[in-house]
This record gives sequence, structure tokens and C-alpha cells, in this order.
Amino acid sequence: MNIHEYQAKELFKKYRIPIPDGGVAFNVDSAVSIAEELHDFPVIVKAQVHAGGRGKAGGVKLANNMSEVKRLAKEMLGMTLVTNQTGPKGKLVNKILIESGVSIDKELYFSILPDRTTARLVIMASRAGGMDIEEVAATTPERIVKVYIDPLSGIQGYQLRQLAYGLQMPSSLIRQFSSMVRNLYELFVMHDCSLLEINPLIITTEEQILAIDAKINFDDNALFRQKEILEYRDFDEEDPLEVEASKYQLNYIKMDGNIGNMVNGAGLAMATMDIIKQAGAEPANFLDVGGGANTEQVENAFRIMLSDQNVKGILINIFGGILRCDVLATGVVQASKKVGLTLPVVVRMEGTNVDAGRKILDESGLNLMTATDLTDAAQKVAHMAQA
Ligand code: GDP
Ligand code: MN
Repeated sequence: MNIHEYQAKELFKKYRIPIPDGGVAFNVDSAVSIAEELHDFPVIVKAQVHAGGRGKAGGVKLANNMSEVKRLAKEMLGMTLVTNQTGPKGKLVNKILIESGVSIDKELYFSILPDRTTARLVIMASRAGGMDIEEVAATTPERIVKVYIDPLSGIQGYQLRQLAYGLQMPSSLIRQFSSMVRNLYELFVMHDCSLLEINPLIITTEEQILAIDAKINFDDNALFRQKEILEYRDFDEEDPLEVEASKYQLNYIKMDGNIGNMVNGAGLAMATMDIIKQAGAEPANFLDVGGGANTEQVENAFRIMLSDQNVKGILINIFGGILRCDVLATGVVQASKKVGLTLPVVVRMEGTNVDAGRKILDESGLNLMTATDLTDAAQKVAHMAQA
């Protein structure tokens, strides 16, 4: 799960990580009153969306007086921000962060993330902050300092020193920096984060350390024990069909093609998407109903897929194991009847109770094409895509 910068900064505050003063605004009036409380200019106005790259795309602006705050707030609220991380459709801005502007001496990069190879948490830091860290990693990897933390022993003093020296931290800031790193590490572990990134972490011209950007991702599998983090979930930032699918524990990801496909098992879903592509069409989604889906889940999965306006045809590819073919067929028929199915559907299924499943489909009176095998299914899908 992803959260907003202003939410990440709320967590930073709790963990005593230095951040600029400020607050989040949902309308122009509250943007102005937050700016008034800051008592000084410039003030930074920052679009709050679940995507980075805002600076280059016009989502981070500086205001030198109150009328500029007003104008920028008006412009940003309601605008669609397209950055190199949003995709071409961009993201609608409906919250902005209003912060004290700071004068920057150095922009550093700092992050914590799990390293699967060593099964440790790795802290990465670089003097080359502010810009695209991927580019630094590709062209000048020696400019990134990495320390690997053993989760059992936690972060060690020598590792803090490695980071501080690697960043050429002024000696007057080393104590402050070290305690900040300890606190960030604690935040990361306590909240089951999967990524914590500050880009840039700055040193101000007054020699203060400040986190002026903040990005945190959380491990979805740990959210059951992170109730307070779950409160931060922003459904406006998620695809509505994906939100709907998550209510029924369906693994659904919307894509740009026009062939909806419903499959049990992630591997089979990937293979089915390949077949659709080989047949010259594009998948509209990834949908794994899971091994043990019940009729209700199948019905909801089918309904969600049908509500995607891009979908022009559907391929159902099921290998019945724990999910029995008759359960699948019942769910499909129920959903089709409820929504008044008009799209062509090709069903390919094999496995447990396949005969009972086929019978349910045949007797449903619905216009469902059954396919005998994958090749046959692919040909029928190809035909559907052309129609
Ligand atoms: P991102 O582009 O989405 O990663 O947004 P950031 O929060 O990193 O902001 C982009 C850039 O804006 C930063 O790298 C800074 O150079 C600049 N910036 C952000 N806040 C301030 C500030 O308070 N003062 C100044 N001078 N620059 C800022
Ligand atoms: Mn940034």
C-alpha cells in the first residue's frame, strides 16, 4: 500500500524526523490559512498524488506571497498531473501540501528497503540526491553507499558512521543524522514498510537536516496488524474496479486491452495473457480468482470485468482443481443473468467436475462459446477481437 507525502510526514513527525512546518489542504481557503500560520515566505505548494516526479511536472511550486499561494492552490486543486510515474492519463490532484520554503545547500538521497538476496534491510544513501536515483545507480553506482542491516542485531554504530562518511556529512550534523537514521529504521520495522525513501533529504544553508520529500510503501500482507496505517489508504488514488475486486479477495489488475480474461492461478493468468497477445489481441485485465473461489467470488469477478467499458470479449480459462468447474459455471451464469450479458464469451475449462460445469453452461440459455483446448480458445479469442 502506498500513502501520500503528507501522511508519510505525519509518521516522520511521530518518529522525530525533522520536516518543514506545514499542513495539507483540500481547498483554497485552508491552503491560505495554513500559509498564514507559517508567517513567512516563500511557501511551497505541493500536489499530493501517489506518484513521484512531481517537481519536473509542475506539481511542486514556490509562492512568494499570499496571492501566489491562492493562485497556485486554485491551479493545482482539480488539475490532472502527468509525471513520468503516473502514466499518460495522469492523476487528479485533490489535496495539496503547504510547507515552509527552505533554502537548500545540499540535496541527498536516502532510502530503506528489503534486499531479497541477503534477506536484510538495505539502507541506500547518496550525495547525488534530488535527481533520478535510477540514473545514478546505472551510470555512477559508486556514488551510492549501501549498508545491509541484520534484522536480528539491528543497526550498528559503525554502519551509521559508514553512512555519515559516505554522505560527507558535516561533523556538526553527524549526531543528528545518526539518530534520524535510527528513528527511520525503527519506523520502517514497526510499520512493516516495504520502501521508505527521502529524495531529497536536504542540508539547509543553516546546516539543518530536513526531509523535504517522503515516500513510504507498506507490505500489504502485514496490513492486518497495521490498523493505524490502513486509515491512510486513499481510495481516490486507486482504480475503482481494483478497489471493488479487493473487497472479494480477487487478484485483479486493470490493463489497456479489450479482452477480459478470468483465470484461476497467477501462472495460468500470465499464460492466458500470452495466448491473447499471440492471437493478436490485448488483455483488458489480469484476473486470478484464486484456487478456492466460491460462486459468489466468481460472480463478482465476472461482474467487475463486465463493468470495464473497454472489454469487448471475454475468455474464461479455468483448470478446475479445488475450484470446481461446476462452481465456476454457476458463478458465471448467475453474473451473466444479473447484468444481462451482451458480450461474446469463450469458456475453456478442464478438471474437476468438468462435465457438470459444461452442462450448466449449455443449459443456461446464454450465448457462451465453449472451447475444447487452448489453441481453440486462442483462435476464438482472436476472432472476437477482430469482430
Ligand atoms: P518529487 O519531484 O515528486 O520527487 O517532489 P519533491 O518533493 O522531491 O520536490 C521536487 C524538488 O522541489 C526537490 O528536489 C527540491 O529541489 C524542490 N523543493 C521542494 N521543496 C523545496 C523547498 O522548500 N525549497 C526549495 N528551494 N526547493 C524545494
Ligand atoms: Mn522527490
